[in-house]
Amino acid sequence: MTDAHDEWDVVVVGGGGAGLAAAASAAEEGARVLLFESERELGGSTRLSAGLFTAGGTAVQRALGVEDTVERFFQHYMDLNHWQLKPGLVRAFCAHAGPALEWLVSLGLDVPAAVSTDAHTPGLCQAGVEDVWRGHVPRDQGYGLVEVLERACRRHKVETVLNTRVEALLYEDGRVRGVVADGIEVRAPAVAVTTGGFAQDPALVERYYPRAHRAGESLFVVAAPGSRGDHLRFASQVDGSVTGEGWGLMLPTAYFQRYHHWQSGFPPASRVHVNAAGRRFMDEDASYAVSSGIIEAQPGPVWAVFDERARRGLPVGYADWTPEGVAAEAAAGRTPRAESLDALAVSMHVPAEALRATVARWNAELPHGRDSEFLRHRTLANKGGPTEPDPIGEPPYYAVRLLPAELVCTHAGLEIDGDAAALDRGGAPVPGLFAAGEAGAGVLGERYIGGGNAVANAVTMGRLAGRNAARAATH
Ligand SMILES: Cc1cc2nc3c(=O)[nH]c(=O)nc-3n(C[C@H](O)[C@H](O)[C@H](O)COP(=O)(O)OP(=O)(O)OC[C@H]3O[C@@H](n4cnc5c(N)ncnc54)[C@H](O)[C@@H]3O)c2cc1C
Repeated sequence: MTDAHDEWDVVVVGGGGAGLAAAASAAEEGARVLLFESERELGGSTRLSAGLFTAGGTAVQRALGVEDTVERFFQHYMDLNHWQLKPGLVRAFCAHAGPALEWLVSLGLDVPAAVSTDAHTPGLCQAGVEDVWRGHVPRDQGYGLVEVLERACRRHKVETVLNTRVEALLYEDGRVRGVVADGIEVRAPAVAVTTGGFAQDPALVERYYPRAHRAGESLFVVAAPGSRGDHLRFASQVDGSVTGEGWGLMLPTAYFQRYHHWQSGFPPASRVHVNAAGRRFMDEDASYAVSSGIIEAQPGPVWAVFDERARRGLPVGYADWTPEGVAAEAAAGRTPRAESLDALAVSMHVPAEALRATVARWNAELPHGRDSEFLRHRTLANKGGPTEPDPIGEPPYYAVRLLPAELVCTHAGLEIDGDAAALDRGGAPVPGLFAAGEAGAGVLGERYIGGGNAVANAVTMGRLAGRNAARAATH
């Protein structure tokens, strides 16, 4: 409870999706809220995102005739994560995700009841491995979502301090009593830690998500600069429980990519992914929820093989996947290029006969809108791509190495319960401490869910953290 010396009821640490949702909802409860943001502007990774939001049983789904329930969403979520997450927490998340989305809509976010074929067209899209469509794409993407929450915070008189990195929690007599920022103690009975992930801190990545380093020199980070893992430092101050170790989201990319695909561009539709055996092993357009795992499960290197027509047809204007970009990589000897598939196979160190047979099988089916082995025709249709991609047959041929190398978000953080209360190592709530988003762990598991798992987690659990922090402080 607030005591006479407290100027604030709730302090929120970090102003991305989770923090803004926490601040707005705490203020809606009547709390006096102070929000610290370490960077010059609010938004964090949430601002950089597509804003894609996964939720089940929503008005948008109903309007499009998609039958869905919280229970079904929960079942899918747990199954895809092999039940390695705590069911009670995930059930709370699934139950509150739909209402959190409706809340955003009530605050001004536009999510039209329209079919979307990608993560950028406003509406409802299918992420690729879902039983029903759950990917809600807002107009103006993550930027739009952040703007809506910022406006709500302003309306509710949330005090925002930019450019100020909270350095520690105030922890006295077994409870959190505020924070320290710029060497100054700011007292409050409840604190919500919403500092995002740790992708920008190589030492923390090494410790909590070492798998990312398998990408070697190809590794690049697209998470916001403020993703420095301060929540993990706070955890050690309060004997907090840390969970989600070893998990995060790596997207598969070409070895030469350095940017998120909006800037990097996209590989050609007419391509076949082959493994070290020279065989196809996946739907080339499989959802990013599962594609990194499929690639990592291959015993050796993985390649995207395409022909000259596909290279020439790449759109211009992107940073990496352009006709000139691929030609330059080939000229530099980094991308194998050859006049025949047999010669290409030699450069790739794969069996030539297998590669020839793989491409022949692909050509016999995909250009006719069929994929009996990997069902890619379904993904192409859902993505609004060419349902009958060109055959692969015009030399020279190219083979581009693919690997999960784009680090998007990290999942290790302060363990939370279904009320977004942070837990200590004995499993009891740390009095006065709440956490959400990437900083509050337990909802994001080994497998990304959706389209839209991480933004939904940030806003949904952030909203709960703010509401419960306000109640803890003022009741
Ligand atoms: C390019 C990109 C695209 C993505 N697209 C999607 C998508 O479409 N859908 C989806 O579900 N997920 C997506 N993600 C992931 C998703 O955006 C994030 O997981 C989610 O938004 C994280 O929200 P957050 O509030 O936890 O963290 P953030 O939004 O990163 O906010 C954390 C904030 O805390 C601040 N901060 C950190 N430490 C301190 C401190 N000590 N004191 C004060 N402030 C601090 C940071 O500067 C930052 O502003 C994407 C991520 C990226 C990078």
